[in-house]
This record gives sequence, structure tokens and C-alpha cells, in this order.
Amino acid sequence: MEITVAKYAGFCPGVKRAIKIAEGILDQRAGKVYTLGPIIHNPQVVRELQDRGLEILPDDIDELQDYYLGGCNVVIRSHGTPPKLTEFLLDRGVNLVDATCPTVKKAQRAAMRLVGEGYKLFIIGNADHPEVKAILGHINGQAVVIKETHELKQWWEERARRVRKVGLIAQTTVDLFMFRSLVDGLINEVPELIRELLELKVINTLCRNTLARQTEALQLALFSDFVLVLGGRNSSNTEFLRKICETAGTRTIKIETADELDVSLLEGVNHLSILGGASTPKYIVEEVRRKAMS
Ligand code: SF4
Repeated sequence: MEITVAKYAGFCPGVKRAIKIAEGILDQRAGKVYTLGPIIHNPQVVRELQDRGLEILPDDIDELQDYYLGGCNVVIRSHGTPPKLTEFLLDRGVNLVDATCPTVKKAQRAAMRLVGEGYKLFIIGNADHPEVKAILGHINGQAVVIKETHELKQWWEERARRVRKVGLIAQTTVDLFMFRSLVDGLINEVPELIRELLELKVINTLCRNTLARQTEALQLALFSDFVLVLGGRNSSNTEFLRKICETAGTRTIKIETADELDVSLLEGVNHLSILGGASTPKYIVEEVRRKAMS
């Protein structure tokens, strides 16, 4: 069996940066170090950092009320955080360390600009994802989060006011197909909206590293007969990789670690490709590769 490991398997620049920042503060041993929610969507890496002293706080103001945090270090993870939460922590005397990915910050700025200029804003993505919650926090929730075209239609039917300007951005890690289908959907599936509009502004907030990872995933899926996608179960970008490979018609499974790999599934496979999400460490990729070869 031939095995190809994706060039882009492993941490993206934003995750590398956030982990390096957290490790730097842990090394200084200057009081307690927390993150708001798990620093990345990979339980193995999170456990390793917890073993070094990192603790996880809830990323919700109500749940934080009972914590005494004065003088502690709190790292904002790569997904960013709503400004209200930042202000709450600063009021409590926290030493706040911002590890928000610069690409995510660009998406936050794009949202603020569009809302500030009076555009009705749509965000393509998952409303429950921490990055989307943080973007919404920067614009006081003044956007509609959409994943499918029918949600656009529903919004159109329920809208209260005439709309003249529509702005569109995306969660940085959504896949290009989803982005394209929602932009197409806005134009083709809700023509009444287009007739009413004076302006439609689309700002490309997609992450280049994610796009390169997705393009490579598709290329590898097209010439493989089996794909292993490695990543945390709650990792959104890894889930997009799995969907891309399945849509290409290639047998695909997603696992977190080498322990979860059932090698009997690889019997008869001629070409196996191994992909990893933006928060999957290289050592897990290597462990899976070795197990697959055994
Ligand atoms: S996937 Fe892209 S946007 Fe997200 S943290 Fe990594 S580099 Fe930043």
C-alpha cells in the first residue's frame, strides 16, 4: 500500500502561535495561567498543556462570576473572544494575553466595518463556533449566521425592513464550496432580494492556510482509495476536510489518534492518504502513518 501524508497536515500558523504564547507564559511561572475554553480543538494537545499547569476557564461571563481571577494570566485563544468578555476580565484585574489569530482579527474588523457602514451582515459559518461568537460579540450580534441557502430564504420572508445594502463574510475555516454555494444562493435563490438591493459587498475572510489544506485534501482524495482525516472530534476545520474527501467519492474516516485506527479497514487499499486538521500535532500524524504501515 502506498501512503501519502498531506503536506499541510499539522498545526496552522494561528494555532502554532497561540500554543507558543501559552507555553511562553507557562515557562515564566508568573502565577496561574488560564485559557478561555480549550486553547485548540485537540484534546491530546490540551491535556499536554494542562500537565504543564494550564487551566481552562469557561468562555461565558455568567459562568465566570464565581471565579477569583485577580493577578492571573488569561490567554485568549486563536478563535478570539467577544469584547464584553475581555472587559469583564480586565475589570477583575486579569493579565490578558491576546493570542487571537491575525486572520480571525481581519474577519472581526471586516464585520465591524460592514455593520458600521450600514450593511445588513450575513456570516457564513456555524453560529455555535467560538470564532463566530467572538465576531458577533464585536458587532453586538448585528448579523445573521447562515449555513444553508434555505436560511437566506427564511430570513428574506421574515425580514421586518427593506434592505438596501448586504454584506457577506465567512467564518475563516469554512470550505470554499460552502462559501461559493451561499454567495450563489444569495444571488440565484433569493432574486427578490437582489432586485431590492443597491449594494452587495462580499469580503473574503477565508483563511489561506485552510484553503490550501482543503485544496490539497481534494487532490489527494481524487487519487486515493482511502483517506484518514486526523483531528479532534470538535474541530470544525477537520470536519470540513472529511466532507470534502467524502464528496469526492473516496472512502474516508476521521479519527483522533492512532489507537482509534482499525487497520483491518485498510485491507485491499492501494493508495492511502493521511490528512490532518489545523490543530492536529505532527506526532499524531506520524503515529497513524506508522500504524497504517504495520
Ligand atoms: S485555521 Fe487559519 S484562521 Fe484559523 S487559527 Fe489557523 S491560521 Fe488562523
